[in-house]
Amino acid sequence: MLFLLVSIFGYSESLQTTLSDTTPGPKVYQRTLKLMGSRFDLTVVAENQEKGNEYIDLAISEISRIEKLISSWDPLSQTSAINRNAGLKPIKVDPELFQLIERALKISNLIQGAFDISYASMDRIWKFDGSVTEMPPKETIKQSVAKVGYQNIILDRGKQTVFLKNKGMKIGFGAIGKGYAADKAKALLVEQGVKSGIINASGDLNAWGTQPNGKDWMVAIVNPLNKSKVFSWLPVKNQSVVTSGNYEKYIVLNGERYSHIIDPRTGYPSKGILSATIFTKNAELADALATSIFVMGVETGLDFINQLKGVECIIVDLDNKVITSKNIALKEIEKQTR
Ligand code: ADP
Ligand code: MG
Repeated sequence: MLFLLVSIFGYSESLQTTLSDTTPGPKVYQRTLKLMGSRFDLTVVAENQEKGNEYIDLAISEISRIEKLISSWDPLSQTSAINRNAGLKPIKVDPELFQLIERALKISNLIQGAFDISYASMDRIWKFDGSVTEMPPKETIKQSVAKVGYQNIILDRGKQTVFLKNKGMKIGFGAIGKGYAADKAKALLVEQGVKSGIINASGDLNAWGTQPNGKDWMVAIVNPLNKSKVFSWLPVKNQSVVTSGNYEKYIVLNGERYSHIIDPRTGYPSKGILSATIFTKNAELADALATSIFVMGVETGLDFINQLKGVECIIVDLDNKVITSKNIALKEIEKQTR
């Protein structure tokens, strides 16, 4: 989500120097564009403009390739073929998609279904375009949940097929796809020898290396209720930072704010959290976990993250209170605040 700004400290400075500065040495190059239905900010450190452009083009082609594979909107994607054949027959897919689904199912198992890529059949009820103005009937919600269930996504490793057991079932990668794309684009650039950069998919980002001046990239955790207010600045050292939030896509019903993240077990949208930010090595996992925290709620979510090695989180609750996992000391945040 946008409120996790990668307002990298010192960064706009380097951008400006790019335009006028003719001194040799690596500089920051950046491009912003819409991919996967979201804003992507692609940043690389390169020797010159030409190289910078070349790297950014590479990242774009990688993200577009992934979009073609996993989009449930594109009727030509393998994901759409899986959905069309729900209840009918297994579909053979590329190893890449097979493995992504396999990993998504592992996460579902780990947290007993709070995260579930088969949430997608509920999309027909919860629309975040302003068209939902009252609570849908209980019966309708109940029916939509009946189609949800990661246990009914049947994978055949030998045949590399995916089968949705029940008619009307649907999978979607809304909660994990951008993170996956960020990881893949980064991996490709690293392979090409790009020493430093940030792939930022609307606040789901993976960063590596440092700024040209050797300083860490910095990320701002902003107040979800007031985007111009920064809660804290944190350094990002070869890791990903992913935020899920409920201020852009939400519905207000009976005075309560419901997020676009739905509890697959009840069929109701989650409430109680304004934003959840995850810090870990890869953006795909971070993306899935940030979404899951919304469903789990503050206490369970925090407890869960505290048990995972190498994963940290910052949660902002409905009272705009900042809660952090055990290895992110609040003091540290205050020190960094500017
Ligand atoms: P954003 O795309 O806003 O950054 P998330 O990564 O948290 O946010 O993903 C939210 C999206 O994930 C929803 O718009 C929907 O497509 C999908 N989704 C909603 N609830 C779940 C869930 N419980 N498990 C998996 N995916 C979900
Ligand atoms: Mg997510």
